[in-house]
Amino acid sequence: MRTARAFDGAARGEKSERALGRLLPALAKYWHNKRSPGFMAEAMECLGGIGYMEESPLARLYREAPVNSIWEGSGNVICLDVLRVLGRHPEALDAFWQEVAPARGQDRHLDAALADLERRMAEPVEALEPGARWLTQRLAQCLQAALLVQHAPAAVADTFCAARLGSEAGPTYGVLPSGSPCAALLARIES
Ligand SMILES: Cc1cc2nc3c(=O)[nH]c(=O)nc-3n(C[C@H](O)[C@H](O)[C@H](O)COP(=O)(O)OP(=O)(O)OC[C@H]3O[C@@H](n4cnc5c(N)ncnc54)[C@H](O)[C@@H]3O)c2cc1C
Repeated sequence: MRTARAFDGAARGEKSERALGRLLPALAKYWHNKRSPGFMAEAMECLGGIGYMEESPLARLYREAPVNSIWEGSGNVICLDVLRVLGRHPEALDAFWQEVAPARGQDRHLDAALADLERRMAEPVEALEPGARWLTQRLAQCLQAALLVQHAPAAVADTFCAARLGSEAGPTYGVLPSGSPCAALLARIES
């Protein structure tokens, strides 16, 4: 939704939104496409064996999930596109820092992740290519975290930051750091 808003703003002639609109679609495509197959596998597992059977719609959704990161632009190519934007349109990165700025000082995991990102991005763009996947992923995660810190209930934002950016962050779904406010999260889903 934030990416879509950047395009609305650009259409109204807002320069910073136009700048964001150069970067955010690539971040959204890369990150959602990479998450999609794992997400589908987890959804299938929730249904147990019936989710795996071909009669289940999940079997088809699972099979089709990887195509997003092929026909919508492969992961590597999107990451190269991110580097191209950073090289040719430095105003896009400025707009990114402006976007996350209001969230600073509210979550230690996000603050540490942003500081680390800033340090790494001080490198010349050509030096960033070997880590382009990490960089694209981190830009997407930091943007998500910054938006949640600003707009979501604290239980959601805090858990997201700890689970995605903290030291207990892991690659699998459903692994929340110890002490996560599970009751508050579940109550929100049920309401
Ligand atoms: C079901 C389906 C429907 C499609 N429909 C259409 C359509 O309607 N119209 C259309 O135009 N196209 C269509 N396509 C094609 C689609 O756009 C391409 O598959 C897509 O652009 C990827 O290109 P490719 O298949 O040649 O893979 P490649 O570009 O050869 O990629 C193969 C691998 O190489 C990597 N790679 C490629 N270049 C680089 C690089 N420079 N640096 C590092 N790694 C790299 C990629 O990340 C990937 O892992 C469709 C594809 C599918 C699967």
